[in-house]
Amino acid sequence: MGKNNISIGVDVGGTYTKIAILGKNQKILAKKQVPTQSSLGPRDFVSRISSAVIEMEKLLKAHADGFGLALAGAVDPASGKILFAPNLKGWPNFDFKKAFSKKMGARKFVVENDANAAVWGCYVLDFKKKGENFLGLTLGTGVGGGIVCYGKLYRGSAGSAGEIGHMRVAVGGELCHCGSRGCLEAYAGGYGIIKTARRMLSESPDKGRILSSLCADPNALEPRHLSEAAQMGDVLSQEVWAVTARYLAAGIASLVMIFNPDGISLLGGVSAAGRHLMDPLKKELSQEPFKLPFLRAKIRMTENSDFGCIGAALLALEG
Ligand SMILES: [Zn+2]
Repeated sequence: MGKNNISIGVDVGGTYTKIAILGKNQKILAKKQVPTQSSLGPRDFVSRISSAVIEMEKLLKAHADGFGLALAGAVDPASGKILFAPNLKGWPNFDFKKAFSKKMGARKFVVENDANAAVWGCYVLDFKKKGENFLGLTLGTGVGGGIVCYGKLYRGSAGSAGEIGHMRVAVGGELCHCGSRGCLEAYAGGYGIIKTARRMLSESPDKGRILSSLCADPNALEPRHLSEAAQMGDVLSQEVWAVTARYLAAGIASLVMIFNPDGISLLGGVSAAGRHLMDPLKKELSQEPFKLPFLRAKIRMTENSDFGCIGAALLALEG
């Protein structure tokens, strides 16, 4: 634990980076959003984030002991370096710990995968009192995940554990952004859901009249259109969510069998689909013949765009 329990969490997104300063009891003391501009390189990023943090600390008259950086990619927990980050060109192997210490002084520093950080934030804020075995799935354009075992984030041997989105749910199935086929993400990630929607729309356009009135161009379709249309009674959109739920159920059923968790949370933008995704998902899972682990694992949807920052800040203090 840090001396004063104050910690900085930085969550690097494709377009924006969120900075939060966290105080006692996971309370956010200050937060700020800055453009990521990853193409300017990691050195420029460190410089801009450091200036913003120092300014925030000045206003708060506080100094944080911890600093957690969350980003999309594989990180090496030992060195704190990014090993692989397809969306952050030129960032892998950069020494963030050294660069940030130079600008802001030595702090307890961690780099963490962004889904792990968000799931950890969700666990600490929302779930900890209910159990110590917990899984989180982040549903966005891609599907990420995090595993909490006995109250600790499980990272695996190389730090890459929790890649739930790349769990195989169909042999020889749809192509995933990772290059493999049949991953959960290829069906339950934003791009997978849209692929399903376009296919179903071309097969039976009449069923998707409401959807087409919201978005006339199938190439411009986004999951939020499907959520909105489903709420308005669009049959096709409701069926798209039901198909998505089937693949999610296949993935979640395997996770429940393997981990026997106390709870599973679905985080992220897809949660706007609400009951249109949750009802068929719960129905699928209720039909599992081996009931015991499914009765225990409560599945819920939750959305808080600060989970990533909060989780990163908390992980830094854990050290
Ligand atoms: Zn994949």
